[in-house]
Amino acid sequence: MKKNKYPNYKTKCGWNSLLSIYQSKPILSDDITSDVVIIGSGYTGLAAAKRWFELSPDDSITMIDASTIGEGSSGRNSGFLLEIALANDAKSTSLKKLVRCNQLISKTIDKIKQATLTASLDCKMHRTGTYRVAAGSSGLKSLLNYQRFLEASKLEHKILNTDQLNELLGTTYYRQGLYTPHCYLAQPAALIRSIAEQLPPAIQRYENTPALECLKSKSHWIIKTPQAKIKTKKVIIANNAFCGKLGIGSHRVATIYTYAALTEKLNKESLSSLGTDNNWGILPTHRLGSTLRRTIDGRLMIRSLYDYDKEDNIKSISKKLMHHLKMRYPNLPELNFNSVWSGATGLTLNGAPLWGEVDKNLYISAGCNGGGVVKGTLFGELLSDLANNQPTPDVKKLFGQANWMPLDPFREIGFNFVSIIEKNRARAEI
Ligand SMILES: Cc1cc2nc3c(=O)[nH]c(=O)nc-3n(C[C@H](O)[C@H](O)[C@H](O)COP(=O)(O)OP(=O)(O)OC[C@H]3O[C@@H](n4cnc5c(N)ncnc54)[C@H](O)[C@@H]3O)c2cc1C
Repeated sequence: MKKNKYPNYKTKCGWNSLLSIYQSKPILSDDITSDVVIIGSGYTGLAAAKRWFELSPDDSITMIDASTIGEGSSGRNSGFLLEIALANDAKSTSLKKLVRCNQLISKTIDKIKQATLTASLDCKMHRTGTYRVAAGSSGLKSLLNYQRFLEASKLEHKILNTDQLNELLGTTYYRQGLYTPHCYLAQPAALIRSIAEQLPPAIQRYENTPALECLKSKSHWIIKTPQAKIKTKKVIIANNAFCGKLGIGSHRVATIYTYAALTEKLNKESLSSLGTDNNWGILPTHRLGSTLRRTIDGRLMIRSLYDYDKEDNIKSISKKLMHHLKMRYPNLPELNFNSVWSGATGLTLNGAPLWGEVDKNLYISAGCNGGGVVKGTLFGELLSDLANNQPTPDVKKLFGQANWMPLDPFREIGFNFVSIIEKNRARAEI
């Protein structure tokens, strides 16, 4: 399997395919100069661009993306916007810090919500809450940890047994669950398109234009793309999982592919067997576990499985995803996928982001660790604050800093080794 230097997915993003055809931005074909170049038009890059324009409206701002809006991970994700830290981030010993992080996250969600109100597309963003569920003993253990964290933080939650989960979600697969209201669900491709469409027109956007190299000269940076070069004073690296391929953050961020699938719309009979909640999201209690959704328009979504730096064969992935979905819904007749796709996430060793000025006038926010819709938006905005000499909260203290990792082949061997052990431990959650 080939390792891509920038995203070049085998299949289209299923969420994006449900929307009207997107008119892509031009490819950069002539050399240009710009005050700032933002590499990557996902949540991080768009938030950085928006903020830069607010702070320095006279600057020329250029964005380039290897793909098109909705086809990057920002459109390929599961559409959970979490208001509080994830279960595996959650430690009741660092509550004070978490409260401050959650304040920043909450403010960011409000801004995202605001953008959906004036968007031309329906982003289907609703505060549904989320279910964290466990099917096996390791899942139950981590659910208990999460429960303790919620109790210590005095955060609202409800414990659910198998029968209660079955009534709500139509599956007896899980042994226990925890419902918390602190989550929005959205149609991620509609959301990222909506954010992009509201950017000031003065921001120059190019698509299908990958950065191939980022070269430093005395007073400026040169970004090489397939057809042209950009000369710029400052650079924002917002290409997340692929930053290492540009030689930036390669020791801190690894490229991990995960997979998702959306079913066709289910018929009335199937939907009536799915329980009383008609718009829900399930998060696993183990990081290798499966995420599930039931969408408002009557589909099921499953996200599961991981590969190190390579996208697996989508046919075989599709079979595996269907198997995991049928384990949860064995009685649903005629389950068919409408689409199956992969997406890249930036993984760091300790789950913390790589954020800040990493070289003179070169800024980065990367390493989303599979949860960067809201955090990416926040970090992108703060990165522009930093680059424009504005005061910023102490991101590294609050959210941590990505630890050093060895490069391949050691990293790949390590990832595969840990995956085998963890997959065995958490088999029931996958
Ligand atoms: C299947 C899946 C499910 C997920 N579920 C969730 C979820 O429910 N909730 C959540 O919060 N997060 C989720 N995530 C993670 C989430 O998608 C990311 O955290 C989020 O997209 C990060 O935004 P970003 O802008 O930092 O990076 P990205 O969205 O990855 O955007 C980076 C952009 O950079 C572009 N790019 C890459 N290389 C280059 C280059 N060399 N030159 C130019 N452009 C380049 C890409 O095309 C892309 O558009 C999921 C991810 C996947 C793959």
